[in-house]
Amino acid sequence: EWYSRYYCTSEISKIKNSNNSSNKEIAVITGGTRGIGYAISQKFAQNGIRCVILGRNKETIENSIKNIMMINDLEHVGMVCDVRNYGETVNVCENISKLGSINYLINAAGISSDNLVVKLKEQEINNIIQTNLLGTIFMCNNIVKYMIKQKQGGCIINISSVIGIDGNVGQSVYAASKAGIIGYSKSLAKELGSRNIRVNIIAPGFIETDMISEIPENKKEIIKSNTALNRFGKPEDIADAASYLAKAQFVTGQILIVDGCLNI
Ligand code: NDP
Repeated sequence: EWYSRYYCTSEISKIKNSNNSSNKEIAVITGGTRGIGYAISQKFAQNGIRCVILGRNKETIENSIKNIMMINDLEHVGMVCDVRNYGETVNVCENISKLGSINYLINAAGISSDNLVVKLKEQEINNIIQTNLLGTIFMCNNIVKYMIKQKQGGCIINISSVIGIDGNVGQSVYAASKAGIIGYSKSLAKELGSRNIRVNIIAPGFIETDMISEIPENKKEIIKSNTALNRFGKPEDIADAASYLAKAQFVTGQILIVDGCLNI
């Protein structure tokens, strides 16, 4: 099963024994196949960190891995993992721990599904909460156990949203899932500080990815004009913030808002 759920451009034995990768820091990135998670993977790879990219689809994972492999000669790894499935997160995290010490966890997997409260159906509500909130909790709970055992500290970055702080019309459940991430992460930071495991939150504003592609053009212009910088963010803007938090050794339990000074 370990092999069947494991996809990479190289052989497992080579990965495990590869000299150039065995002593490198490891970052696990959910949602690393596209958008913000992919930009973070690129940035971390540029910083000499080995990336383990998780997503739901073998082909998109392989594509991301191939691109990231071009940045340096580290053995980056991809694994299929639907973060809504607790059993799957347990197995995948156990497999990742076989690669070496896990230094970073970035939870960027997420979905948005906008609907007015009166129109929301049970399945839609469950899917948003399961992916955004439970997915983040499942991954943290599993990875933290390995970080504690490894006794080398660690850094967790959970991607929330400014909508989780301010709320928004048509985004009540999304906002609830993102607000939940904040409460959970701040609690983890307090619980794990004594082990030098830092937990921070990034709250992006509107970032140019697939997630916002369905916003009508006229609405996009209004949103842009409501930012001080008069633009959407780029996935790289969030990757820069993640890179800062990865290095900031005295920062934990904080929300870093990256929204170009958005006035919703
Ligand atoms: P994208 O839609 O571009 O990417 C979403 C990523 O999440 C994909 O890699 C997708 O992987 C992964 N994903 C979705 N569902 C699951 C699942 N069940 N299991 C595993 N992976 C899953 O979105 P963004 O990059 O824009 O968003 C990344 C994060 O940033 C999200 O949490 C989002 O809420 C948050 N955010 C985004 C903002 C924006 O304006 N774009 C603003 C504020 C916050 P795949 O489909 O390949 O399986």
